[in-house]
Amino acid sequence: MTQITKWWGGQPQIVNLGRLDQMSLDENFAEMIRVAIAARKNSQAPYSKFGVGAAVESESGKVYAGCNVERCSYSQTTHAEQNVIDSMVTTEGSVRIRRLFLVGALLDVDVPILDHDIVHKPVVLCPCNNELVWPCGHCRQIVWENCDGVILTPVYTLSKSGDLFLAHIGDLYPFPFGPQNIGIKYRDEGGQNG
Ligand SMILES: [Zn+2]
Repeated sequence: MTQITKWWGGQPQIVNLGRLDQMSLDENFAEMIRVAIAARKNSQAPYSKFGVGAAVESESGKVYAGCNVERCSYSQTTHAEQNVIDSMVTTEGSVRIRRLFLVGALLDVDVPILDHDIVHKPVVLCPCNNELVWPCGHCRQIVWENCDGVILTPVYTLSKSGDLFLAHIGDLYPFPFGPQNIGIKYRDEGGQNG
């Protein structure tokens, strides 16, 4: 079983890739991919022409979808990750994200992934690749706030060619600022609202 060591906050963290691979092979994850791809097709993106679909699985195992919604005032645009996390909170309250999936591409790109391919896609660690779409800085903050400090919360992205890539929120936001920094808890331990 492959293990690697990552460094976050000056502390070594052992990451077990075998376990993460296994985690990606369940039906809930396939559902996340399906609903995010479907949500991307509903993107309201007449300005950027860049459609983003996102899905999260909450700690209770429920799956939600969101897309980007642009507005002519620009600053009132909603990003897909914010949209999906707000939907999760609307339904379940302030719960933790177990994992997040993202697909983003120009609207005229049909990201080629078929249902029967989903469980066979390899998961690889995030390379530095400008063609991959990861959450923007604004959304990394939003994602982090519902991770309960779990830096290994998986964030997956689908490339335009249909390959699946994995990073962790600790990779994407290595020196975070969150409610913990000001002594606030959104919920009690165990995921209930607090
Ligand atoms: Zn964003």
